Amino acid sequence: MIRLPAFEYLTPRTVGDAVKYLADRGPDAMLVAGGTDLFPNMKRGQFEPKALVGLRGIRELSGVRGEGRAGLTIGACTTLSAVATHPELARRYRALATAAGLVSSPQLRNAGTLGGNVCVDTRCNYYNQSYEWRKAVGFCMKKDGDICLVAPGSDRCWAVSSSDTAPVLWALGATARLAGPAGERTIAVSALYQDDGIAYLAKRPDEVLTELALPPASCPRLSCATRARSAATSASTRAATGTTSRTSGGRPSASA
Ligand SMILES: Cc1cc2nc3c(=O)[nH]c(=O)nc-3n(C[C@H](O)[C@H](O)[C@H](O)COP(=O)(O)OP(=O)(O)OC[C@H]3O[C@@H](n4cnc5c(N)ncnc54)[C@H](O)[C@@H]3O)c2cc1C
Ligand code: SF4
Repeated sequence: MIRLPAFEYLTPRTVGDAVKYLADRGPDAMLVAGGTDLFPNMKRGQFEPKALVGLRGIRELSGVRGEGRAGLTIGACTTLSAVATHPELARRYRALATAAGLVSSPQLRNAGTLGGNVCVDTRCNYYNQSYEWRKAVGFCMKKDGDICLVAPGSDRCWAVSSSDTAPVLWALGATARLAGPAGERTIAVSALYQDDGIAYLAKRPDEVLTELALPPASCPRLSCATRARSAATSASTRAATGTTSRTSGGRPSASA
């Protein structure tokens, strides 16, 4: 059994406090929501925060608000189980409910959150390993080393996101709300991701993702989520896709 290293655990009750704790601790701190990805990464030595800012005690970050015709907002700490089973999401944004329901196991979906899924670390077969395994093979530039083991001639990291919900949020035209020391801002989910396995998010390290907003679904909208997965069910060998299609007279008329 691999043990978690020691860390300070901070429990803000508001988003403002979470932003303040994060700013005070600087690079020594990380946010944690469900911890389903962050804690294993800490055990494997990929993350070494001295302090964790826990988001689950912030009530405003949980729950689904609004009505599908006008658009819905989903708090970043809403669990994947809640997203998968929410009636309005299942009716009007079925691909998102499906994608949330495809993530791993019921236990992980009960703890894991939508915000954590959107921000989940990128990985590859060389990185998604224990500290001892990575040390034996040789560290890579994403953590502790200076070359890429996937593409040794490359000056950048090719690790990819394995989030099941991100492609669907992107296809649905969702936006992400971020709160930081400079205030709040909203960006399209499509602009949240960067083509770099290390700096993979356009979110600044001192910003908290507070909610995901879905555009109005006033007309019938077909959408689906599919996933290819290896027999070994490794998180690093999955690819998720999301597609949407508006309907006209009951027939699909356009797709994104
Ligand atoms: C065995 C196993 C199987 C898995 N299977 C899948 C799978 O099938 N599909 C899939 O998509 N994922 C999978 N995962 C990855 C992960 O568990 C999920 O993506 C989960 O949704 C992460 O959510 P969380 O709330 O637990 O995030 P955490 O582990 O708490 O955080 C993940 C990252 O997001 C950051 N973060 C969390 N919340 C916020 C926020 N509000 N604002 C800013 N940053 C934030 C954290 O700092 C951390 O970097 C798997 C993980 C494991 C261990
Ligand atoms: S640099 Fe990135 S892609 Fe290359 S081995 Fe490390 S994690 Fe994998």
